[in-house]
Amino acid sequence: GRDCFGHAGADLEVHMPLGTVVLDAETERVVTELTQHQQRVVLLYGGKGGKGNLHFKSATNRTPLQNTPGLPGGEGQYRLVLKTIADVGLVGYPNAGKSSLTNCLTEARPKTAPYPFTTLHANVGIVDYPDRFERISMADIPGLIEGASENRGLGHEFLRHIERCRLLLILIDMAGTDGRDPLDDYKHLLEELKKYSAELLKKPTMVAANKMDEPAAVDNLKRFKKKFKKVVFWKISCMTGEGLDELKEELRVQVRLEQQQAVAP
Ligand code: GDP
Ligand code: MG
Repeated sequence: GRDCFGHAGADLEVHMPLGTVVLDAETERVVTELTQHQQRVVLLYGGKGGKGNLHFKSATNRTPLQNTPGLPGGEGQYRLVLKTIADVGLVGYPNAGKSSLTNCLTEARPKTAPYPFTTLHANVGIVDYPDRFERISMADIPGLIEGASENRGLGHEFLRHIERCRLLLILIDMAGTDGRDPLDDYKHLLEELKKYSAELLKKPTMVAANKMDEPAAVDNLKRFKKKFKKVVFWKISCMTGEGLDELKEELRVQVRLEQQQAVAP
């Protein structure tokens, strides 16, 4: 009678990082994916308001009795996940042997994985377990970490990639090539990761001591063990192949564990 109409509800807008995938919570089907900066997606529309009798008033119909009912808004349950780049992300200073390890462990090598939401490309390789019919992916993320050697930090672009791996494999040049000290390398890497986000350090992390074929590596490892008593690490050499089978198997086990936990609510 008084020409009232209900208020329109406020939109609920949720800001999500690029690379977010929206899944239907029930069916696990992908509803949409954010691949562009500032992209906006409507998941659920609000209800439609009804039309009261005033709406139907006209010159010939002065007191209409018609009306149409309002309709309820959409409802739904979604799961928002950040797209993973790879199961395993390699973290290490330049020349630690990241590319070498990727070459040793991965076979099929899709060129470089282009991710629409980044400018940096990660080299993703597939680690194959033919006997088990299983495979995991491993990313050698090059680029901005190089700045670390000039005390410029690891670079956020780089760290954002690391964030999107299920598991981190920290690779240390245990031989300390070019006068580096592997103990410092390890300490600084952890500090940088933590500086970026404490969440990063909650990710399952493995440590591999590379270049164990070099005599210097054996000496350094002794010091390393003394200083970081609790750290479990894998002794490898990309040159001789030492320890690679064991590392490969452990990566598989850890990735599966992590996947199972990710599925559980
Ligand atoms: P990245 O910068 O971390 O990708 O390191 P690379 O894989 O390019 O390796 C840097 C250098 O270390 C190269 O000259 C490799 O040949 C050498 N390198 C890698 N792994 C080993 C290893 O297990 N033993 C020895 N002695 N040298 C290695
Ligand atoms: Mg490299």
